[in-house]
Formats: sequence, C-alpha cells, structure tokens
Amino acid sequence: MRAIQLTAPGTLEQVEVPTPAPGPGEALLATAAVGACHSDLHILDAPAGAYPTPMTIGHEISGRIVGLGAGVTGWSEGESVAVYGIIGCGRCRACLRGWENQCRTVPIGGIGISRDGGLAEYVVVPADRLLPLGELDPVQAAPLTDAGLTPYHAIGINRDALRPGTCCVVIGIGGLGHMAVQILAVTTAVTIIAVDTSDAALRLAKRMGAHHTVAAGPTAVEQIRELTGPAPDGADVVLDFVCVDATLATARQVVSTGGQLTLVGLGGGSLCLAATVAHPPPVPMETNAIIPFWGTRAELAEVIALAGQGLLRAEVQTFAMAEAVRAYGQLRAGDVHGRAVLVP
Ligand code: NAD
Ligand code: ZN
Ligand code: ZN
Repeated sequence: MRAIQLTAPGTLEQVEVPTPAPGPGEALLATAAVGACHSDLHILDAPAGAYPTPMTIGHEISGRIVGLGAGVTGWSEGESVAVYGIIGCGRCRACLRGWENQCRTVPIGGIGISRDGGLAEYVVVPADRLLPLGELDPVQAAPLTDAGLTPYHAIGINRDALRPGTCCVVIGIGGLGHMAVQILAVTTAVTIIAVDTSDAALRLAKRMGAHHTVAAGPTAVEQIRELTGPAPDGADVVLDFVCVDATLATARQVVSTGGQLTLVGLGGGSLCLAATVAHPPPVPMETNAIIPFWGTRAELAEVIALAGQGLLRAEVQTFAMAEAVRAYGQLRAGDVHGRAVLVP
C-alpha cells in the first residue's frame, strides 16, 4: 500500500509498504480521510531521535473497518469510524479517570506521532480507539479528532470562566482556531475576539461566529483592550493556538486579573509567570496558565455529537494523499484556510 512517511528528520515521502494486518484487539481500517495538523510540521522539523523513522504520519483519522483481529467484539466490517489518537496505559490514576491525555505511564505520543498513523491506504489501530461516525461525512469527521477535540478540551477546562457576559480571545484561526470559535459560539454566550495575521483567517472567524476580529500586529493589544476595557479587566480566557513570543506577549497583556491563559500552540515561545509587585506585573494576579494536550475519548464522543447535530463543521480543503507534500507546504506557508484534509 502507499503511505506518507517521515523517513528522516525533515523528509516526508510517499513510499510503498506492506499492508498491515490487525493483531489481537486491533482493527484494520481503510483510511477515508486524514487531517493535516500543524503538529505534523513540528514533527517534520524535530531533530533526529525525537520521533521514530520511518513512521507513517497523520493523527486525524477517519476510515472504514475492513478487518478485525482476534478478540475484537462490538464492531463490524464496513462500519465508518473516527480514531481517538491517544493510547494511554489504561491503568494509571489519570487513565482510570478517563484522562488518557495525562497518562502517567505512557510518554506523550499517539497514533501518527509515536507509531504509524493514518496517511496510508490502510491503518491498524487498537479497536478500543474507535468511535462510530454513523452518517457523518468521513472527510468532515477526520478533523474532529484533533482540530475539533483539542479546542473542545481547552474550552472545557475553562468552562467555569466562560460565563455569559465574559470575553474570550482566540489567537490563531487555523485548523484548531476556527473550530474553537464555533465551539465557543455554540456552547457559550461569551464575546469572542479572534486574532490572526491573515485577513482570510479573520474572515473565516467571522463566519464561524466571532463577534470581533483583530489583525495580529503592533496595535492588536490596544484594539483588544478597546473591546475588553482596561486592566485589571480584560479577557477572562485567552486561547493561544500559536504560542510564539509575539502571541504570548499579546495574551499576557490582554488577560484579565483572575483570567485564564490557555496555551495550545506548540510555537515554542516563552511566557514569564514570575510573581512580582512591580508595576505593571508581567501577568495579572490570580491568573492561571495551562498547557492542554489533545482531549479525552469522552470529549471526542461529544465533539462527534455536536457535528452530528450540525452544530460543528470543519472548513476543509481536500487534497489527494499523493499531494501530501504540497499540502504540508501550503500549511507551512499559511495558505490553508480551515483544515487541509488528505484523501487516499
Ligand atoms: P494552523 O497552521 O492550521 O493555524 C495556525 C493559525 O495561526 C493560522 O491561521 C495562522 O495565520 C495563525 N498565526 C500564525 N502566526 C500568528 C501570529 N504571530 N499571530 C496570530 N496568528 C498567527 O495550525 P493548527 O493545526 O491549527 O495548530 C495550531 C497549533 O496548535 C500548532 O502549534 C500545533 O502544533 C498545536 N497543536 C497543539 C495541540 C495540543 O494538544 N496542545 C494539538 C494540536 C495542535
Ligand atoms: Zn494535531
Ligand atoms: Zn495511564
């Protein structure tokens, strides 16, 4: 079968590999669609040894069951499914609570991150990672598993702060950010302020339900402050889907006292959280910062339910799997609106 593999640091290639067979407890899927996540670019850019090579990438997967390994019950061939990408140990304190994204035993990773993923004609996954899609379009469904799930989890963490009348700043309206805006719009009554460097992304944010849009740049903080009011008021929650120095600087200057900084992006910027009474303090007092990771299986079921009810819909740009290198090039250039989805 054809697969898109990370064959060496920085090198993505289409290769011919044997079709895998499902082992005990596993399912073989004919891949239907795979979302191209910005994290795949971070994986591509990582130094030697950070990720296994060769490895088939792709961690936003939907497909159709075409084979079941020994001992798998409750699933049938032909069923349309989405894949929950994290494989926790299932036994630690975190896993027992359903927080496999905080597993205390298995290092951070997942299907398409630390083992072969979905950018291939077929993929083998543990059957207990599957969620039924029913009638949902698999191309729509693939991005739900990360671009939908990760913001849903990040918003869930902040649910208490996202009360009617509060304000949420969303930075980076790409694959994850445009889903975040929709999830905020359909599950809260907060004022949504979207920030991006790209005009097209800001137009997308408006369509997804943002109340205000602000172009990232030297006047962004001032413009956001005009909307939220001056310190110590501000944004009750900031969701940063970029997390480079520039966006983190914006985030800490617009967050309110007692606000929540939620750092989803893996941009590698720094945020100083030093407590000080100097004026102005780097981050307001009573502020929390959290670095969420992906989400839980239960949350993915809720994301799929939202989509099933027509309340959440990824803006997708489809590419043939053979065009993967071009699709990732466009993603790196900031030339994808919503989510790029690869179809074998
Ligand atoms: P994307 O490329 O689809 O979107 C990024 C968006 O940010 C684009 O719209 C871009 O124009 C905008 N942007 C870039 N620089 C900016 C700046 N300086 N100011 C404002 N906007 C800017 O990326 P994505 O797939 O949505 O992923 C976003 C980030 O989240 C990546 O770093 C990715 O690795 C990370 N991620 C984290 C998790 C997690 O569990 N924590 C999960 C998935 C993705
Ligand atoms: Zn991802
Ligand atoms: Zn565990």
